[in-house]
Amino acid sequence: MNSLAEEEKAIVDRTVRALTNLGFDEAKARKAVTSIGDPSDANLAMNWLFDHGEEDKGGAVKFELCPHIDALGHGCLVQHSQLQFGQPCVHGCKGDENWICLQCSESRCGRYGNCHAVKHWQKTKEDEEKQVTVADAAGGRIARGHCLTLSLSDLSVWCYECDGYVQHQCLVPLVKAMERLKFGGDVVESETGVTVSEEADALVGSPIPATPAVAHGRFGNASWSLPALVRACKEEARPGYKSMKAHEYLDDPDVLQEKVRVLADLV
Ligand SMILES: [Zn+2]
Ligand SMILES: [Zn+2]
Ligand SMILES: [Zn+2]
Repeated sequence: MNSLAEEEKAIVDRTVRALTNLGFDEAKARKAVTSIGDPSDANLAMNWLFDHGEEDKGGAVKFELCPHIDALGHGCLVQHSQLQFGQPCVHGCKGDENWICLQCSESRCGRYGNCHAVKHWQKTKEDEEKQVTVADAAGGRIARGHCLTLSLSDLSVWCYECDGYVQHQCLVPLVKAMERLKFGGDVVESETGVTVSEEADALVGSPIPATPAVAHGRFGNASWSLPALVRACKEEARPGYKSMKAHEYLDDPDVLQEKVRVLADLV
């Protein structure tokens, strides 16, 4: 009958038992064993547990600024419209701990699967190395391969060339786009066809969305410029009410001076 599935279930059960014998919680052990590529590998499952247990995180992860994004040119990164969440490894591997290549948008499994993500970087780097001519090399061109990859588990970006978690301003829109794909959110299509969120609309320097009469009050002057956004905020200003986001707006210094003058005339 379904002997293959039964056989696999027996392997899973055996590894789970080995882990619970070592003192691991059964539900967590089962999650670990079913998350890794080879369910018979108790060591790998244990590493997975250490990696996913809060008490074993061993401090905050440090994000370095990746120099390769500038070196490769910002055009090396995929457009955020190319990103998809929840794609399996392109090699058909099981498991959901996949990584998206930020240079070709393909999804591949990580080290708890069959390491296809790291192999993709090695392969693309090798292919590129073959193409680098002596002149290219003299001009400073170095093959990097597809070194930038985004974790679908925690949306962190890893650079294989940096060999670490990285940050860069060019990565922010990609991570945000993936965040919206993963958790949902207000995604609206702008006139230019670029997908932006409501939060992305709250640009520092943009005027408050209100008429001058509302923004400046009844002693105000309609010719005064509107207060501009200095700090965007995701929280509601007055939760439970028909509200707006608690962004912080400041008057332009000239308008502020005018307001002080109006106030001085009142007292
Ligand atoms: Zn890097
Ligand atoms: Zn790639
Ligand atoms: Zn794979």
